[in-house]
Amino acid sequence: MDITKLTVHELQEKLEKKELTVTQIVQAYANRIEEKEEKVQAFLSINTEEALEEAKKIEEEGRSTSLAGIPIGIKDNICTKGEKTTCASKMLENFISPYDATVIENLKKEKLISLGKLNMDEFAMGGSTENSAFQITKNPWNLHTVPGGSSGGSAAAVAADMVPWALGSDTGGSIREPAAFCGVVGLKPTYGLVSRYGLVAFASSLDQIGPITKDVTDSAILLNLLAGHDEKDSTSAEVEKKDYTKALKQDVKGMKIGVPKEFFGEGINTEVKEKLEEAIEIYKNLGAEIEEFSLDIAKYSLAAYYIIACAEASSNLGRFDGIRYGYRTKNYTDLEELFKNSRSEGFGPEVKRRIILGTYVLSSGYYDAYYKKAQKVRTYVKNEFNKAFEKYDVILTPTSPTVAFAINSKCNNPLEMYLADICTVSINIAGLPAISIPCGVDSNQMPVGMQLIGKPFAEETILQTAYTFEQTIKFRETYSPKFKE
Ligand code: GLN
Repeated sequence: MDITKLTVHELQEKLEKKELTVTQIVQAYANRIEEKEEKVQAFLSINTEEALEEAKKIEEEGRSTSLAGIPIGIKDNICTKGEKTTCASKMLENFISPYDATVIENLKKEKLISLGKLNMDEFAMGGSTENSAFQITKNPWNLHTVPGGSSGGSAAAVAADMVPWALGSDTGGSIREPAAFCGVVGLKPTYGLVSRYGLVAFASSLDQIGPITKDVTDSAILLNLLAGHDEKDSTSAEVEKKDYTKALKQDVKGMKIGVPKEFFGEGINTEVKEKLEEAIEIYKNLGAEIEEFSLDIAKYSLAAYYIIACAEASSNLGRFDGIRYGYRTKNYTDLEELFKNSRSEGFGPEVKRRIILGTYVLSSGYYDAYYKKAQKVRTYVKNEFNKAFEKYDVILTPTSPTVAFAINSKCNNPLEMYLADICTVSINIAGLPAISIPCGVDSNQMPVGMQLIGKPFAEETILQTAYTFEQTIKFRETYSPKFKE
C-alpha cells in the first residue's frame, strides 16, 4: 500500500483499525517529500523532523481526536507561532510569527501535524505562483507548467502526494484555480464562514481561507475544522456549527443547476468547454435539472475586482514600512528614505504594481471614477447572483478558461494573467461559496476544473453536488499526475 496515495478519510480508517500508525504515516510523507520536492518545489519550509517527533508523542499519549496525527501543509500566508510566515516575500523572509492564526489553533486542537509551509504568489497576488520571491513551484502533471496560484504550493503538494491535504487562501480564485490546474479539490467558503484572524491580509473584504484536498469528503472534513465564529475577526459570521460530511449524499435528482452562457463564451478554451459540456450531460443523466441562462457579469467583475483588491492591498500593505515588520533596508539616511528603500527592496514587481494601482484608484481625484464605481459594480454583481439563486440551487461554470499554462508564458503580461481569473473573481465579489473539482483531462492529459457556486452559507449544497459527480466519474481512480519532464 502506498500510504501517501490515500485520502484523509482513508488514513483515518486505517488508524482506527490500527492498520497504520501515526509514525508510519508521517514517515511516508517525509519520504515522499524527499523524493518529489526537488522537482516540484512546493515548500518554503519543511517540518518533517518536528512532525516525526510530534507523531511519536501522539502515539505515546494515545490518539485523543479522530484526526490526531494526520499531517497537513499550510500556505505560507497563514501565521504559525514560532515559525516563519513569509508570504513568499523578501519583505517577510525572516519573519517569525508570534501567534497562531485561528485556523491553526483549530488544527492544533485536533492534533493535526504540520509538514511545513507552502509556496505561493507573493502576498497571494497572482495566478501562477511565479510571483514568489523564492522559487517557482511546478505542476506535478507537467513540470513545465504552472500549478496555478496563488495557492500553487498547496495544490501542487496535494497533487504530488507530499501532503494529504492543505490550507489555501482565496481572494479572487487562489484556491480554486490551482486546484483546477493540479487536478485536486479546492473549496472557497462563504465570506465570513472561516476566521481570517492570522491570515496575512491581501484584500480583507475578499480573502477567505479554505481546504485543498484530494476529494470532496476530505474537503467537508477539513471545512468542519475551519468553519465557525471567531470573536477575533469582526467579519466572522455568527453561524451554527455544522457537520459538513452529513451533506455527502449521492443525489442530485431534481436539483436545479444554472449554466451561465457568458462563462462558456469567448476566451474559454474549446477542450475545457467540451469537458464541462460532458459534465453537464452527466448531471442531466443523474437527474439534475440543467438550464442555460444569462449572467453577464464576468467582464465587469474582473475590472471591479482588480480595483477593489488593489485598493485594499495598498492599504493593508502600508504596515510593511521597514520598522514594524520584516525587511529593513541598510541603505538610508533619514526616515523617509528608510520607508522608501525598505519597500522598494522588499516588495516584488507585482506587489508594487498593485500598491501603485490601489493608491491611484483611492486618490481624491480618481476615487469616484474608479473605486466608487467598482463598489457599484460589486452591488450589481451581488444582485445578479441573488436573482440567479432565486431559480437555481447551484451555478456551474469552468474554474479557469484554460488548463495549466507553460511557465514563463504569461508573467510578462499582467493583463493576460489577470484574465485567467475571469471565472472566479465574481464569486469573491459576491462573497459566495464555490468549489472546484476535476472533471476530466484534455488531450495533453492536463486536468480540467469545474466550478460549482452556491448561495451564501450553502456549502452543503455544493459539497453534495460535487460529491455526486466525483462518485460518478471517479477522476482520482482514473488519472494521476505523471511528473512529465
Ligand atoms: N489571481 C488573483 C489575483 O492575482 C487572485 C489571487 C487570490 O485569490 N489570492 O489577485
